[in-house]
Formats: sequence, C-alpha cells, structure tokens
Amino acid sequence: MIQYSCFNCGIDLPEDHDVRFLKDGPQPICTPCRLNTHTILTNPCLHCEAQSELTLPRKNLDEWWNGKYVSDAFPDMPVEQRELLITGIHPECWKELGLDEAF
Ligand SMILES: [Zn+2]
Ligand SMILES: [Zn+2]
Repeated sequence: MIQYSCFNCGIDLPEDHDVRFLKDGPQPICTPCRLNTHTILTNPCLHCEAQSELTLPRKNLDEWWNGKYVSDAFPDMPVEQRELLITGIHPECWKELGLDEAF
C-alpha cells in the first residue's frame, strides 16, 4: 500500500482516495485542492505536437491570467513544468530539440 499525499498542499490522502494522474507521473491531489484547481490544455508541443493537461491551483492561474509573470504566479513550479505551461514543449522534447541548455 502506498501512502499518497496531496502534491499541492501536502496533506496525507486516505488509501481509497481518488488519485489524479498528470502527464509527468502520479500527482495525487486532495478534494479541497481539486476543487480549487483548474485543468488547462497547453499549446501543442513544437516537437511532438501533443498538447498536455496541467492541473494547477486556481488562485495561481488567476494571478497569471491577470498579468503576473509565470515565475511570480507559480513560484514553486519546477522550471520544466513552467516551460510546458508557457510553450507546451515537454522536458524530453526539449532534449530532442537540442534546446535543453536553455535550462
Ligand atoms: Zn491538497
Ligand atoms: Zn513533446
């Protein structure tokens, strides 16, 4: 049995919790956080042309949509996920494009 904790707020989730999965691996989220998140579709990736779903806190998304820089609206977001959000390019596709020095 695996004990999951919410990726957003870090609380431990019950064993029978309905776990959500995101593109980059299991990203369990608790119900209150899920209600406060919004799933967006990214731009198509330049390399593989696939769009990705990102589930992000509503509050931060609102700040971004209201004009904040991604780095200010999502201060804890890993840079790869930030790129995915902005450009739609997957971390593995950056490497294949030979652009991973950008990190
Ligand atoms: Zn949570
Ligand atoms: Zn891709």
